[in-house]
Amino acid sequence: MTEAVEYPDLVVVGAGLFGLTVAQQAAERLGVRVEIIDVRDHIGGNAYSYMDEETGAEIHKYGAHLFHTSNKRVWDYVNRFTSFTNYVHRVYATHDGEVYPLPINLGTINQFFRAHYTPAEAKALVAEQAGELAGKDPQNLNDKGISLIGRPLYEAFIKNYTGKQWQTDPKDLPAGIINRLPVRFNYDNRYFKDTWEGLPADGYTAWMERMIDDPRIHVTLETDFFDGSQPYNKAALAAAGVPVVYTGPVDRYFDYSLGELKWRTVDFKEVRYDEGDHFGCPVMNFSDADVPYTRAIEFKNFNPERAASQNPDRTVVWEEYSRFAERGDEPYYPINTEADKALYARYEELAKAEPKTVFGGRLGTYKYYDMHNVIDTALTAYEEQVEPLLKK
Ligand code: FAD
Repeated sequence: MTEAVEYPDLVVVGAGLFGLTVAQQAAERLGVRVEIIDVRDHIGGNAYSYMDEETGAEIHKYGAHLFHTSNKRVWDYVNRFTSFTNYVHRVYATHDGEVYPLPINLGTINQFFRAHYTPAEAKALVAEQAGELAGKDPQNLNDKGISLIGRPLYEAFIKNYTGKQWQTDPKDLPAGIINRLPVRFNYDNRYFKDTWEGLPADGYTAWMERMIDDPRIHVTLETDFFDGSQPYNKAALAAAGVPVVYTGPVDRYFDYSLGELKWRTVDFKEVRYDEGDHFGCPVMNFSDADVPYTRAIEFKNFNPERAASQNPDRTVVWEEYSRFAERGDEPYYPINTEADKALYARYEELAKAEPKTVFGGRLGTYKYYDMHNVIDTALTAYEEQVEPLLKK
């Protein structure tokens, strides 16, 4: 005989930023009891990080995460749980044996053309080079790139990087993947243009642990919503009428009945060096085809303020290899072809018809969200969907 389960008021599937935000709001605003389950052995979803004992680096387990936002509601909300360092994100790229600043700016252009163009001269040059395909409607990503920034800069900084990201020659990729390629005609190489940016002072995981430091919130890890042998499974919760916030893959929820949504994933290869600093920056892109990875992350360099607790003689770097995801891989970036969008629209209709389940987050809505977007959508989903469901 199975033991009778005393169900909480709300079950949240997925301990990522969407699920944690909704759980925090439900406990705080209505005082309800919330159970969060996650199939992984840690909270935080893809924003999770851990401290590397050997080097003292904070490793972002699912790829480099930089917090930035211009949304005051989100900034005020996250500052309740963490303070932020004054880290400002800047990226560099290695091309043909030289290191350039990104996004492409006047510094990149002048270094690349061995020139000292003024902003107006550089603008005129890029416009002239971008005119190579004037009058032609670009039919693929390669032509689109050339028509946006001209062949020399496109071929140096975009072509091979994009080819590696998609494992496909840009001539065989649709033009619609890119709408614009940012070029700055000044020396500003600050990557984000948002009002606020920084990294959580005590790390991502400490931030997210504080979000759910509430006796009304309980977390059960290594628990799959679709595993019928655990009490918080889909069928049991539906039978008991317990409201659910689901942040797993939407197609999985419906047992892939309409087909599978497609994603790209990233494989990480860890390399350790006998030196305190290998790149001199946190993110180095590799723009050429002869290096098989797209970029490398040197985690120590995200947190120079922790230098005293970091190993001065060792550093850890993760090389990133991008590819199409298969079932069982970590789904990272929605591919979003027209077929994917149409398929998601059909799943969205099914999701809307589920009476007691709210779908959210990047997997539940098949969207790429930055962290600030996901927190914003979670705050809105709580107000507009979850709270009304809990008050019913
Ligand atoms: P997730 O974090 O994916 O959480 C979903 C959770 O649901 C997971 O923990 C998963 O294990 C769990 N789950 C799924 N299925 C089940 C199931 N059946 N049962 C139980 N649990 C389940 N954002 C930024 O703002 N800045 C960045 O620099 C940045 N860099 C990124 C780099 C990469 C490589 C990627 C992929 C994303 C990046 N993001 C960045 C985006 C950021 O990761 C997301 O916005 C955020 O993690 C989304 O939170 P979420 O709760 O929607 O999803």
